[in-house]
Amino acid sequence: MNEPISQDIDAGLRAPRYGLLIGKTTCHYCRAEMPTAAVWVASFAEFEEGDVIGKGEGALLRYIEHLDATAAAFVLGHAPWMRLAFTRTSGQTYYAHHCTTCGALQGDHYVFSPDGPYWPQDDVALARLRLIDGMGALAAIASPAESGWMRRVVDVCTRE
Ligand SMILES: [Zn+2]
Repeated sequence: MNEPISQDIDAGLRAPRYGLLIGKTTCHYCRAEMPTAAVWVASFAEFEEGDVIGKGEGALLRYIEHLDATAAAFVLGHAPWMRLAFTRTSGQTYYAHHCTTCGALQGDHYVFSPDGPYWPQDDVALARLRLIDGMGALAAIASPAESGWMRRVVDVCTRE
């Protein structure tokens, strides 16, 4: 049996290994260049009421509504422009990007769009993303998005 993700939540996602993928985009409001951070997991399992309901490899977490305390400190330490915020587009409160120049919220539908930093078309583009290894395992409530390149992150991305 796995322990609950937090004292009052028994559903969500667990990953034995994670990291942050740092990229950059353009603020949709003021057009300044701004850094981006995506939580990457090498593999994951999704739980509901203690049962495994799904598994996968190589994914980015979008619409992150909850992170365990250690992962939250890690993510916010490296990416202080991420803040819990409600967006009307999603109807959710999640860790969303905010422009480091004007403060405008950049929703995950924008940051993770095909025009954004997390749709590399080749290894040259993939190598521009920087990987910062996380500390140990991760527990979260989020939507995992899998793609083939996300299984090659460790081999191709710049490491810190
Ligand atoms: Zn801006």
